[in-house]
Amino acid sequence: MDKDFEILLEEAKKFAKKRILTNYASCGHCGCALMTAKGNIYTGISIYSKCNLGRCAEYGAIAEMLKHNESEIKKIVSFSAKGLIYPPCGSCRELIRMVDDKNLETEIMVREDKVCKLKELLPEMYISKE
Ligand SMILES: [Zn+2]
Repeated sequence: MDKDFEILLEEAKKFAKKRILTNYASCGHCGCALMTAKGNIYTGISIYSKCNLGRCAEYGAIAEMLKHNESEIKKIVSFSAKGLIYPPCGSCRELIRMVDDKNLETEIMVREDKVCKLKELLPEMYISKE
């Protein structure tokens, strides 16, 4: 496995610990870690609520990255509390794509032995003509 992905996977695993918050919400079903073009690492944790106010771990990691004025993601991985690498859902794929045009080249670990570029996971993606 690529050394960067080894580091990212260890970071994502730290947050992949399910925790019940209330009768209505829990977190940590999934942890995410990403590495930016500058080499910085940002992490996120999933939030689940019974009225669909939750967010994927990728969303949290991307928000943390944006707080630091970065948007170009080189590599990203998410890990579930069930012990599996999770490819990002469709919404998160779109979010990664939309925060920086260069992110079509983002490397996403989809399994322990497989890495895909975002553009391979979004073959007919929206391209703004504006
Ligand atoms: Zn998602």
